Amino acid sequence: MMRSLLWTILALLTLSLAVSACSGHSDASEEISAASDTLVTLHPRDIARLLNDLGDADGIQRLPVNSVGRLREVFNDTNALQLPAAMACGIDPVIDLRSAYHLRRPIQRIYSCDEFVVDSLWMSMPYLVPRAAQLLKDIGRTFQDTVRNRGGGDYRIKVTSLLRTEYSVSKLRRRNRNASDSSCHRFATTFDISWTKFDCLDTTRLVSLEDLKNILAEIIQQKREQGRCYAIYERRQGCFHVTVR
Ligand SMILES: [Zn+2]
Repeated sequence: MMRSLLWTILALLTLSLAVSACSGHSDASEEISAASDTLVTLHPRDIARLLNDLGDADGIQRLPVNSVGRLREVFNDTNALQLPAAMACGIDPVIDLRSAYHLRRPIQRIYSCDEFVVDSLWMSMPYLVPRAAQLLKDIGRTFQDTVRNRGGGDYRIKVTSLLRTEYSVSKLRRRNRNASDSSCHRFATTFDISWTKFDCLDTTRLVSLEDLKNILAEIIQQKREQGRCYAIYERRQGCFHVTVR
């Protein structure tokens, strides 16, 4: 009796997560625990583990994954490592966008496109230096191709944070102690890609969230090994924090 009840709860949970992972919108504040975007109040780490434990649940497709190892150990490029790259490749931090007319480097506006979706941003602006914009596009394209080539449907990654101004960092700091003065996001070189939510373009073919996360990890690791970026696996915020180099 207990066992069947447990399976019913798990099945309902899986369904709600699949729908959530596939929805094209969210309230999008990456600084608030990404778990609030799902229909249940679970930590992203627990959600990923639960989906993994559930294995081949009804209607959820599993894909081959080449594990890169424990994500928190693999993606451990510290802020001290990322910051010099951000300063070398990026703009001087700006107070707000009105101050952005006198930049030492151009920045470009980032729009949702074939390769990725820009989530509704909270406390950040959709701008990157061209080098970072190209990296983001390449990650999105490779992710999409890889999922498709391994038999999954059409998915796009979701970008949850881009350029932060001094103004937004100071506001953020009141809510999140990780939002430091030395945030790489101030240099337009850094973006966050969610691993708790993906944009699903074909709802008849749902892929395990755990597999999508691990494929995304593979792609980011490839770019990292090519010397194109640094990355941190953010557990609390449910994202990969990536800085171009
Ligand atoms: Zn970040």
